[in-house]
Amino acid sequence: MSVEATRSQIEAALNEAHIPSVMMALIHLTGDLSDLNGEPPVYDFFGDGQGGLSAERIASVKARALQALLEAQSGTRTHHPIDEALLQRMMNFIAGATIPDRYLPLMVEELSVDGVDAKRPTWRAADYGEAGTRLKVLIIGAGMSGILTAIRLDQAGVAYEIVDKNPDVGGTWLENLYPGCRVDNPSHLYAYSFEPNHDWPNHYSDRNALFAYFHKTAEKYGIRAKVQFGVQVQDARWDAKHHLWRVTLRDPSGQTRTVAYSAVVSAVGQLNQPRYPDLPGREDFAGPSFHSARWPKDIDLKGKRVAVIGTGASAFQFVPEIAPDVAHLDVYQRTPPWLGPTPNYHEAVGEGQKWLLKNLPYYDRWYRFWMFWTMTDGIYDFVKADPDWTGPSTAVGEMNHMLREMLAEAIRTQCADRPDLADKVIPTYPMGGKRSVRDNGVWIAALKRDNVELVTDPIVSIEPDGVVTREGVKRSADVLIYGTGFHASDFLRTFKVYGVEGRELHSDVWKGDARAYLGMTLPDFPNFFILYGPNTNIVVNGSIIFFSECSVRYVVGCLEMLAKEKLHSISVRPEVFARFNAEVDEGNSKMAWGAKGVNSWYKNATGRVSQNWPFPLVDYWNATLKPNLADFIST
Ligand code: NAP
Repeated sequence: MSVEATRSQIEAALNEAHIPSVMMALIHLTGDLSDLNGEPPVYDFFGDGQGGLSAERIASVKARALQALLEAQSGTRTHHPIDEALLQRMMNFIAGATIPDRYLPLMVEELSVDGVDAKRPTWRAADYGEAGTRLKVLIIGAGMSGILTAIRLDQAGVAYEIVDKNPDVGGTWLENLYPGCRVDNPSHLYAYSFEPNHDWPNHYSDRNALFAYFHKTAEKYGIRAKVQFGVQVQDARWDAKHHLWRVTLRDPSGQTRTVAYSAVVSAVGQLNQPRYPDLPGREDFAGPSFHSARWPKDIDLKGKRVAVIGTGASAFQFVPEIAPDVAHLDVYQRTPPWLGPTPNYHEAVGEGQKWLLKNLPYYDRWYRFWMFWTMTDGIYDFVKADPDWTGPSTAVGEMNHMLREMLAEAIRTQCADRPDLADKVIPTYPMGGKRSVRDNGVWIAALKRDNVELVTDPIVSIEPDGVVTREGVKRSADVLIYGTGFHASDFLRTFKVYGVEGRELHSDVWKGDARAYLGMTLPDFPNFFILYGPNTNIVVNGSIIFFSECSVRYVVGCLEMLAKEKLHSISVRPEVFARFNAEVDEGNSKMAWGAKGVNSWYKNATGRVSQNWPFPLVDYWNATLKPNLADFIST
């Protein structure tokens, strides 16, 4: 559909619209506040997102939007100014909730009605003379957060090099090739705020579309040409005398070189070092065996007996894809995931919706905003643990219990014809204790297939031709697939980092319990920054791209601080670091994933939640707006 659409094309497009977002766009276009004066949308937890508006209201919105779009095409439509008080009313209306005042600055930035990229650096390294131009940063990794860092450093005119162990950009979306791989956040939210994609093919796009997006963005901003591919960081050593990091890099040829940088940004991700289960006989399996994140391009599972170990987010996606092809599939489950009903999980975005996103002014902003609120902090309270909760241990509070009952009922309904299966797949831990997955029914349907068995008896060993469980049963297998997750707690696992006095980050400092201030910096590791570091993962409330954008703004702010204050180094004060971590630990103890007795990869070997951010997103946004010089020891 072209920009100059006909009346009937626009009408067809509006049939695919998110009506509350159209209502907000109309206020900009007409200045008419009558929609705001009506009842706000009421979103059913698992509904269609239209907020239960009456047919008459929907028809009226569509008719007015048609008129406005026709006038916009003929250039006779002007935009009405919106002051902050009205904006807040509009936000509350579309959210179907009263958004607390403290969210307002974040929400205004996120909504960005004027399309301004508020996180773009407003300074240039050269503004600060030699102190700015001497900066030279190493970015390790060219996935989502590495590309973002490079874009921001280019915008600030800061010199940098960027390396990646892989042959291309994209990180996790380059590496994961397993069938069914896709994002669990709505695509229109899972994109850089300054680089919206109105052409996402699916509401939850697949790996190919995501890889294409990051590839295209890296090309557009000229980042891809700068990445040194196939280059692995071996170690980084702080040279206190010269205030530099000396980083040893291994080139694709195997040759090593040591390069000096004034700052290092690790953008290596959390979830890419496969973890294999420690099961006797694992090495002796005779057939092909591989981890989900190392899916062989040429593997043919047709007619094979396949064993899958694990039922986390990855297995949940590939099991339904491979089940119809294989002769037999055994799915070994230790703990079932919570399933969040998401009917449009595999659905394509209609052409009409794409057209509206591109052509109905402000619609795209409000549509993203609506998702931002309803799918992030809007659901945070459901996974909070109530210290006074005396109900069943399957929940951590009243709201959590309510959510649990709804989700369990949705699973039970799917298993109405297989009560035996329902008993196995309804989790007994609280919702939010582990990562939940988005469900449109294909998982339970796959488990119900005649050629699929869900095995819950624990595995005791692997034999060359099969898997043995505690009951002494051996189920034969030709192929073994590990959906067993990653070494998530072992941050920055692939290289060593030697800080002040040569203390190594993993062996001398973290000792299996990674911590960092705001997930990014730690004492005695001057000018060293981590993206998607400890305690910056989110369980229910948000997209990791939002977190990365906040973190990168903070890191770029630190670099500006170095230049502006003419400093050589900054490292966070131990007391600031300690206070922050105490708050985070306290916060996590009040969340479903931190509750006693709930175990997942969110907790490290010491039992501490080292992965997750326990607070609302607005707190991370506020904390990362600008670094505070007083929080750092500087030289
Ligand atoms: P995961 O969530 O850590 O799941 C690993 C699975 O393997 C769990 O079911 C675990 O059981 C099981 N397991 C581990 N060791 C086992 C053993 N010895 N015997 C039997 N079962 C064993 O890993 P993942 O599925 O790869 O996902 C990791 C994370 O990556 C996700 O949480 C998510 O953050 C991200 N991810 C996202 C998407 C997406 O956005 N769609 C897709 C894939 C991954 P227990 O639960 O009992 O430990």
